[in-house]
Order: sequence, then structure tokens, then C-alpha cells
Amino acid sequence: MIDGGEAIRKLALNVARYTGLAPLAKPFVGGIGAILMLHRVTATPEKPHSVNRHLNIAPGFLDAMIADMKASGYAFVAMDEAVERIKAGGKGGQFATITADDAYRDNMTEALPLLEKHGAPITIYVAPGLINGTADLWWDVVEDIVNARDSLTLTRPNGPLTIDCSTPAKKLQANARLHAYLTSEVREEDLQAVLRDLARSNGVDADGPRLRTLMNWDEIRSIAAHPLVTIGAHTINHSNLKRLSEADARQETGAVRAMLQAELGEKPGHFAYPYGYASAVGCREVRFARDSGYASAVTTRHGVLRAEHAGFLHALPRISVNGRYQSLAHIRTMLSGVTTPLANAGKMLVTI
Ligand SMILES: [Zn+2]
Repeated sequence: MIDGGEAIRKLALNVARYTGLAPLAKPFVGGIGAILMLHRVTATPEKPHSVNRHLNIAPGFLDAMIADMKASGYAFVAMDEAVERIKAGGKGGQFATITADDAYRDNMTEALPLLEKHGAPITIYVAPGLINGTADLWWDVVEDIVNARDSLTLTRPNGPLTIDCSTPAKKLQANARLHAYLTSEVREEDLQAVLRDLARSNGVDADGPRLRTLMNWDEIRSIAAHPLVTIGAHTINHSNLKRLSEADARQETGAVRAMLQAELGEKPGHFAYPYGYASAVGCREVRFARDSGYASAVTTRHGVLRAEHAGFLHALPRISVNGRYQSLAHIRTMLSGVTTPLANAGKMLVTI
């Protein structure tokens, strides 16, 4: 979850569109393919105006996007083949692979029928803790807490902090304040306990969002058996690895393979770093993913794939299909590669 570079990408998209740069630039910056990043795919989100609506796209848009990309020559391949094509320098032609983080139930009920129609494979990254309840969809729980109350009080070492959530504008600010509190002030190891205390004291069910929106193990086993589906790992507890000790980060990255094997009968071969932005994944985390034996690992850094990524298979960028920008023009601009250097301080080869 969480789309860190949204503002910079919006700027990049507009620059590219208004200057007409995208089609001209494609031969120079186009790359060999792209890894698309989804979260939820539903026509009927519970909260259409949610602060987290960037995490959801409509099934109709997924359908149109795949059709548009196929028409312009993209081959949709599974992650295993994507890795092979990167290693081969993109010789098989331009390709795309679809990924979805967190294992939302709508991936099965609303996305899969469209993927079947197009023969497009998907990799779904599962964090077992989110399924078992040792981790929470905290960004949804935070939204529920803020929506439930007119004001909130946080317990902090230097005294309590009261946050106004009495108006829509204040609720927006309160969401941002709570995100900052939980991802920088609270220790990563304490996140669940602090969130659950806050939920309990404000009358909100912290289990609600994950039980309502994520698949259970039976559903994951069923989708894992589908020929178009690859299950990847997303740490055990959806952890920001950079905020953990070396031992804990290694455990979260590596031990999840055996946990998924115990549930699904097969060790996952691919990995996605939770959050995936610069303050969640760096050189150390890339080393842990490589040491754990994954064939690939993806971030949420914005970029198309280049032949040089053969040397960086554990730091692959993605193109986020963002619920706030569901337009084929935006997707075409991003796939042209022109936004890759614009969003990355001029860098064409995006790793970490
Ligand atoms: Zn995630």
C-alpha cells in the first residue's frame, strides 16, 4: 500500500502530456517492459471517497488498459517469464507483467475474470500476518477511526496530543497526522498494539478491514491453483523492513517463504517490499531479498524496465496503476518511459 511518489508523478505526467514529449521520447526512454502495480480492483468500493481510493481501480479500467496495451504490442507474461525476458535484455519484444499487493478478495472476484479474458497473468503478493491477524490494514483502520470521531487523543511520551477530526478537511489532516505518527513515531514492532489500542478506545473494530477486504487462506489456496496466478511474498507482517533490526528484517524477508509453503504447498519465488519507497527499502533490504533466494523483488519506485535491470533483479521498479488517475493517456505516458527520469531526478535506470 501507500503510493509515496504520487505528487511527483502527477507533475511528471502533466509535463509529459502538455509538452507532447511522450510519443517523441519513446524510442530513447521506452525501456523493454513494465511491471504494473495494483492493489484493489472493484466496481463497488465500500467508501468511494476514501483517502485510500488511490489503491483501487475499476474493473472496467483494468479491462481497457490491458486491451490498449495489447493493441500497442505488449505481451502480458507471468513474473517468471518477465525475469527471463529481463535477463535476455528484452529480446522477446515489449512485455508487461501485472502484480497486486496484499491479496485483496476483489483480485479473485473482479480482476481474475478479466485477466482470464485477456490471458494476462498476475502475481499476488501475500503477507501471511495480514491474513492471520498478526498485522492490520492499518491505513484503513486509521480512516475508520478518523471517520468515527470528532476528535482523537494520542498518548505520546511527551504528553497527550489531541487531533481535531470534526470536519472533512480536518479529517484529511488527521489521517495524514496519524500516518506520520504510526510510520515514524511509533516503533515498527509496536505498530499493531498502538493501532489496536487506538481502535479499541474509539470504538472501531481493527479486524474489520482485513476480514472484509482480504482473501482468507482457502481463497488464497484456490486462486493460487489458477494457471494465471503466481503467489509472491510480501514479508510476514507487512513490515517496513528498513525500520527493523537486521535479525528481524531478515526473518520477515526469509521466513515468510516457509510460512507460505506451509499454507500453499509451494515456496514463493518472488517478493515485494511492503511500502517499497526509499524509507522502506535500501541496499540492506535488497541484500536480504537476494539472500533469501527469491528470483525477483519489486519496489514501488516509479519506472519502466531496462535491459540493465538484469543486474538488479531484486530492486525492480513498477508502474502504479493509481485509482486517482484512471486514464489511458496517463498509462501510455508512463509506459513511454518519459516519466521515469522525470520522477527520479533524471535517472533512466531506476533501482532503489
Ligand atoms: Zn502492501
